[in-house]
Amino acid sequence: MPLPDFTSPTTFKTFNTIPSTLDSTAPSESYYLLAEIKENLSLTRPTLICSDLSSTSFALTWSELNASPHQSDVDFKALGLKKGNCILLPNAKRTDSVDEGKQGKVVIPGGKYEWEAQSGLKVIPGKLEKVVEVGQDWEFTVVEGENTCGNCGKEGEELAKCTGCRGVGYCSKECQVKGWTEGGHKSVCKIIKSFKETWP
Ligand SMILES: [Zn+2]
Ligand SMILES: [Zn+2]
Repeated sequence: MPLPDFTSPTTFKTFNTIPSTLDSTAPSESYYLLAEIKENLSLTRPTLICSDLSSTSFALTWSELNASPHQSDVDFKALGLKKGNCILLPNAKRTDSVDEGKQGKVVIPGGKYEWEAQSGLKVIPGKLEKVVEVGQDWEFTVVEGENTCGNCGKEGEELAKCTGCRGVGYCSKECQVKGWTEGGHKSVCKIIKSFKETWP
């Protein structure tokens, strides 16, 4: 499956452009809500404060998950649901607050066992800026880069793929090391890997 268009505002929506749960018309096209996790504000219910593509903050919570000060139903950290990572939620809807001035939120239906499968929620391990960068450069770095060294640009079929993401190839050990450090592959390798899993 090809990657969705990361430059399209109709494919990658924001908290303010996703439909409300009061809107019963089915969306004509599928879309994603993409946002970076800024804070874990779980009190009685697991709650993550996220910031979307327009830097709007909203709360993400689960309808049937419980949290106590000491323990949650779900180990958020183990699932990667932590500050500095992104969430990707297909066809998300916004729950509008009846209280004027109080911000709405995104509620994922379900509890401990169905919470991930039902909603299609994915964690993308990286900051929003980097996630968007990888998405927009995908054709060039991963698709067209198939037979091109990710560091020096040398073409060839004998490229060794990065063992982390298997998305970028290098002509030599030296190029791989340079690509990882100076080339910045270190900050995008996990993102590339999760994109390949999300859109195989
Ligand atoms: Zn090279
Ligand atoms: Zn890699």
